[in-house]
Amino acid sequence: MSAEDRLQGYVGRVRRILEDAGAEIGDEIEVRVGEKTYRGILIARYELADPDHVVLKLPSGYNIGIRMTGDISVRRIAKARKPGFTPPPRPEAKPGLPKVTIVSTGGTIASRIDYRTGGVKPALNAEDLLSIVPELSEIAELDSEILFSMFSEDMTPGLWNQMAERVHRLIESGVDGVVIAHGTDTMGYSSAALSFALQKPPIPIVFVGAQRSSDRPSSDAATNLIAAVRVAGHAPFAEVCLTMHAWHSDDVIAVHRGTRVRKLHTSSRDAFRSVNHEPIAYVVGGEIKVNTEGLNPRGGDGYRFRPGFSEKAALVKFYPGMGPEIFEVLAERGIRGIIVEGSGLGHVANRLIPTLKRLIEEGIFIGMASQCIWGRVNMRVYQTGRDLLRIGVVSLDDMLAETAYVKLSWCLAQTDDLDEVRRLMLTPIAGEVGARSLPTRAEGVVA
Ligand code: GLU
Repeated sequence: MSAEDRLQGYVGRVRRILEDAGAEIGDEIEVRVGEKTYRGILIARYELADPDHVVLKLPSGYNIGIRMTGDISVRRIAKARKPGFTPPPRPEAKPGLPKVTIVSTGGTIASRIDYRTGGVKPALNAEDLLSIVPELSEIAELDSEILFSMFSEDMTPGLWNQMAERVHRLIESGVDGVVIAHGTDTMGYSSAALSFALQKPPIPIVFVGAQRSSDRPSSDAATNLIAAVRVAGHAPFAEVCLTMHAWHSDDVIAVHRGTRVRKLHTSSRDAFRSVNHEPIAYVVGGEIKVNTEGLNPRGGDGYRFRPGFSEKAALVKFYPGMGPEIFEVLAERGIRGIIVEGSGLGHVANRLIPTLKRLIEEGIFIGMASQCIWGRVNMRVYQTGRDLLRIGVVSLDDMLAETAYVKLSWCLAQTDDLDEVRRLMLTPIAGEVGARSLPTRAEGVVA
């Protein structure tokens, strides 16, 4: 993550000036611009801000931006002091509590802002966590591991695989539950990925994120994490799932199925919703309330570990002015399968059908999901849909487009046989398809 960058946010000429002076974020520096001299701590800044500024924290505590034009010089006065966070002693582990391991992959939930330098730092070892959220020691015997320190927009199918391998090893080690702290942007993709790689697991695998970082009073990090650890350690079901605020208030945390959940709001605490499905459970006042039937039981013996994700899958959204070029380029670059987010019941412009036909004849899988989000694809209603079916486009029912893309990536790593990919795509594996669609958005459905 860019937290690793010693000059986070600085680019171009100003970055070179700082580098020449040997300055890094957190160092005390002196900046001279013409007749004026400023002294302070160099702090990280937004990359998109005006590139000609440096930002200093003055001894008064105020931050100032200094425009670096004209006659300028920079001198490093002192090296950065390491931030002095000493967690309080770890609370005594209560005997008899379930063992839960928190695997941190990054994102807001796993970050703490260093207010001295403005940098974002990963902060998720067990000591840090217990010092920030001491309630966790009452719920589980905690352990934690840092797997990645990244923003989730940088996640890849290869990293899903590493995540799956790590969780598989934890399952084998005998823990009672795993929590995966993850950036929210692509958390729904990762929860779908682990749903396919770790089928019918014997323990809950619970994704959790935060929309607001733990330093902010409005943070949802602690409540989400407490609920996730509770589900991981105590839920009667063993599903790959995702726990986030069901509401803007702290009272109800929803537990979503890993293949049925989508981020639907950029910033609100209740950004995640189950789509075409109810949340599988809620955590209300510290109690887990199961909300759907037929969940995989904790301790069941049907566990299958099936890792593998291919980089040769793609997800493409149809739009009215679309030409065939995107599909052609993907085929030229060796993509082996494409999920199309079609309009409405599962359509694309008729002018694209000959290109899709050619791709299918060349052995590329084409699956149809809907950009409507709610409801199911039905390609038998209109002629366009029927034509798409006739050329071999596979209708993916009520599967979320993102989940369909993840599943395709997984299928392409399991087999080279296109017929087998088709069969697997239509076989329900992790609750991703087929259940009755809810009549409306599951807006505000709580226990
Ligand atoms: N965009 C980043 C991510 O998804 C940070 C925001 C967040 O944690 O939700 O990792």
